[in-house]
Amino acid sequence: MTAIATLGSHCSLQVLKGASDEGLKTILVCEKKREKLYRRFPFIDELVIVESFKEILEQKCQSALEQNNAVLIPHGTLIAQMSSKEIESIKTPIFGNKWILRWESDRMMKEKLMKEAHLPVPKPVTNPKDISKLVIVKRQGAAGGKGYFMAANEDDYNTKRNQLISEGILSADETLYIQEYAAGVLAYLQFFYSPLTKELEFFGVDQRHESDIEGLARIPSEQQMKSKKVPSFNVIGNSPLVLRESLLDEVYTMGENFVEAAKRIVSPGMNGPFCIEGVYDENAKFTSFEFSARIVAGTNIYMDGSPYYSLLFNEQMSMGKRIAREIKIATDRGELEKITT
Ligand code: AMP
Repeated sequence: MTAIATLGSHCSLQVLKGASDEGLKTILVCEKKREKLYRRFPFIDELVIVESFKEILEQKCQSALEQNNAVLIPHGTLIAQMSSKEIESIKTPIFGNKWILRWESDRMMKEKLMKEAHLPVPKPVTNPKDISKLVIVKRQGAAGGKGYFMAANEDDYNTKRNQLISEGILSADETLYIQEYAAGVLAYLQFFYSPLTKELEFFGVDQRHESDIEGLARIPSEQQMKSKKVPSFNVIGNSPLVLRESLLDEVYTMGENFVEAAKRIVSPGMNGPFCIEGVYDENAKFTSFEFSARIVAGTNIYMDGSPYYSLLFNEQMSMGKRIAREIKIATDRGELEKITT
């Protein structure tokens, strides 16, 4: 029997609850400092205790997973804490496509794949000298928006960058990625693509709540102007959103284009959950600044099922449960290699 394993953070509770509901064994790779938290949840069958998540790269940890025929579910913490090379070296089968995670972590590769998928991306700015409109400055990898900042021109960019370096938030040798700021209603579009059915499913939409950019928006402009603090985009939590139904057709098209582009560029393609992140402007035009090539924490808001999945499934279906269902079906058919790398 296949077991489901994941790192204890991000969306691990949802993933393991869904696996348990599907009757699969659940394994959590858990940092010692979080053991007390995760022992509270009876659906976690086994905890593999580590000092740091990097131990997943060690033989001892991988053997423990191998003995259980475990499939590892990758999420944002894996990407944030390990290099692409390290992730690619993991011997445990990884759900989805581990090779596409490099395309998520590297800003230039990310831009290339998004363009290939015909996603409307904000204009990148390669040199701070060329900043002529409001831009957002980002770090590499899944930094969760921490250390990001906005700048209106080159001077503004240098002042804020230097301030963040002096505060120890950025390092001086860090390569930053600059792109035009897209204003509008945030919408993070969550999908699942099944290589077994060859169908794209639209799961739901969330919005991220980010500090302290949201904190800044809650104070009057007079105080905002006096603030010397560089506001960051550190994700604190997520809330649900449903879209105008007239937008859904385009949402599916964007998802399908992304799946097609991933198939061409990074074999075996965009299998499993993924997310296209962006904003809708006043003309309901979508601009996409980001994708995640694996489950996003924003799916945690739909642990009892999402509005859009209630249209596709006559049962409560979380993203964690959907992943487990796919693994169960593939295992029964002897096709696990179709959905893992
Ligand atoms: P990311 O790491 O690219 O997901 O960005 C983190 C957060 O920064 C997002 O959730 C948005 O709030 C904000 N953001 C990123 N890129 C842009 C952009 N081009 N325009 C407006 N907001 C952005």
